[in-house]
Amino acid sequence: MKKILTATLVTLSLAACDNDNHPSPTIIIAPVESHDYLPVPASAFGPALNEQGYYVAEIRDGIYWVTEGVYQAMFITTGEGVIVVDAPPTLGKKLLSAIAEVTEETISHVIYSHSHADHIGAASVFPDTATVIAHEETAKRIERSQNQAIGDPYSFGMFLGGSDVPLPAITFTEEYELTIGNKTLQLINAQDGHAPGNIFINIPEQKVLMVVDIIYPEWTPFGEMAQSENMPAYLHAHELLLNYDFDTLVSGHLGQLGTREDVEKQLAYLRDITDNAATALQTTDFNAIATEYGQDNPWLLFEKYLDSVADTCNEITLDTWAEQLAAADVFTKSHCAKMVESLRID
Ligand SMILES: [Zn+2]
Repeated sequence: MKKILTATLVTLSLAACDNDNHPSPTIIIAPVESHDYLPVPASAFGPALNEQGYYVAEIRDGIYWVTEGVYQAMFITTGEGVIVVDAPPTLGKKLLSAIAEVTEETISHVIYSHSHADHIGAASVFPDTATVIAHEETAKRIERSQNQAIGDPYSFGMFLGGSDVPLPAITFTEEYELTIGNKTLQLINAQDGHAPGNIFINIPEQKVLMVVDIIYPEWTPFGEMAQSENMPAYLHAHELLLNYDFDTLVSGHLGQLGTREDVEKQLAYLRDITDNAATALQTTDFNAIATEYGQDNPWLLFEKYLDSVADTCNEITLDTWAEQLAAADVFTKSHCAKMVESLRID
């Protein structure tokens, strides 16, 4: 049955990095017929953007979040300079506008949540004088990505409108406490949740916590378990997160802030996917697929077998979750496939 997206026509002109060297990609969210996919509920969309294409708001006590609807960054006024966390190329110089809108303080510190260019690839827009802080593994990964000598002819973040970013001046392995002016931030190793080097940015006094690419409030995670590298560590990161006494979560994605309930709900969804992937592995008949496709081409056989396992996991999971998380019908199969492979080999 054809279903229609009910979203209002929104054109997000995502001036990538507002960088003269890169074209500005445009993302269009339009009320098009969305094939056979479920409509996204209105509650899953965030606040309206301003004329410049972003939304900025104070969470509490000088802690702000900024979004263009798909990516998020955070900044904090301290009385002695602004601390910024992340620089998605989709926000780019809009981040500078958002900061200038609410404070005259200059940017003194930049924190990278992790090494992925889609979240930090616009960090060159910040002043050279800002001190950059990140996990040691994040620094290593950025250095490797930006090292053209190792054979990658494409520069860091170039397909996202980003460019090379400053290497961190301060790195840590497990925990780093940053006190600037009237704010204290705890930067904590997220133990391989998403990618090695990913961190929790905890602001205990204001009960705000930012962690990127782990939780997707109201939505299913981005495809293939949000590109997480280690499935057990990804699920465990949810439990680690719930150990902190936060009220508001800045997740790095989409147009809304999160809560503890979002973490609990997503963990339940991912645990269901784990169980359903195991059930699918136990019930899919490999021999029947081998009979149909033969064994001469083992890659074809495995492709068909693993696809069938993922299909079964997807169907069982969507029975419960199709209407509980936006776009669950878009990405659950890819989560299932990733979990199936993790159960097989990890
Ligand atoms: Zn990432």
